[in-house]
Amino acid sequence: KVKNKPKVEVEKPLSEVKNVIAVASGKGGVGKSTVTSNLAVALAKAGYKVGLLDADIFGPSVPKMFKTEDARPVLEKVDGKDKIIPVEKYGVKMLSIGYFVNPKDATIWRGAMATNALKQLITEGNWGALDYLLIDLPPGTSDIHLTIVQTLSITGAVMVTTPQDVALADAIKGVSMFQSKNINVPILGLIENMAWFTPAELPENKYYIFGKDGGKKLAEELGVTLLGQIPIVQSIREAGDNGEPAALNEDTVTGNAFANVAQKVV
Ligand code: ADP
Repeated sequence: KVKNKPKVEVEKPLSEVKNVIAVASGKGGVGKSTVTSNLAVALAKAGYKVGLLDADIFGPSVPKMFKTEDARPVLEKVDGKDKIIPVEKYGVKMLSIGYFVNPKDATIWRGAMATNALKQLITEGNWGALDYLLIDLPPGTSDIHLTIVQTLSITGAVMVTTPQDVALADAIKGVSMFQSKNINVPILGLIENMAWFTPAELPENKYYIFGKDGGKKLAEELGVTLLGQIPIVQSIREAGDNGEPAALNEDTVTGNAFANVAQKVV
C-alpha cells in the first residue's frame, strides 16, 4: 500500500467556465447556428458572462452572424503562455476558425487538422471566467463531437431540429449519440426551429410548412424538455445576415422567443 501518494494535478481546460453547453443538430440547415448565436446574445443580455465557440470548422457561421468577419484575434502572453484573445461583440466572447483562415480553405482541411485547430481554440483561448460557453457544433455526428467531449466537460447538449420528418430522424440519432455510454452528455432539451411561418403583415397567422409540432412531439417521445418553438420569420434571417442577431431586441416577438429559450436553459 503506497502512503502519501503524490497528487497529480491535471489541469482541466476552462476551469473558470461554469457551464459548457453544446448546441447540436442532426442535419445541416435547420438553424443551429442561428439559434446558438441568438441564445448567446440572449444570455449576455440577461446579465451572464457568455462565450461562443464556433466548432463548425467546415462551415463557420459565427463571424458573419456577428458581423465580425474582419476581426483577427490577437495573441497575448497570459501567465507566461501565449493565449488567443477572443473577439467580443454584443457582450459575447467568440472564437471561430473563420477568424484565422479563409472559410473556403477550411473546407478542404483533413480531419486531424480540423481537430487540432479546434483544440487550440479551446485550450489556448483566453476565455476567462464565464457563466456559459456555448459550442456551435457541426451538424450530424463526427470526430469533432468526440474531440469536444474528450477535451471538455460538457454540462449538457441542446438539440436543434425543424418539425420535418427527415430532420427529426437525424435529431434522434444526435440525441442517442449524446446519451451513448462513451459520450454520456445530458440532454438539456430540444429546440424546434422553423416551427411555423408567420408573414410580417399577418402576425396572427401560422403556416406549418414543415409540419406541425414535430419537435414538440419528439421531445415528448424521448422524454426531453422542449426548450421552445421558434417560428420562421424573415427578420430572423435578415438579422443573421446583417450580423445583428434578433435577440438583441427583446421587445420584438422573435427577440422575446430567444429570451424565453435562454431562461429555460439557465
Ligand atoms: P445550420 O447552422 O443548422 O446549418 P443556419 O443557422 O445557418 O443553420 O440557418 C440556415 C438558414 O436558415 C440561414 O439562412 C438562416 O438565416 C435561416 N434561418 C434559421 N432559422 C431561421 C428562422 N427561425 N427564421 C428565418 N430564417 C431562419
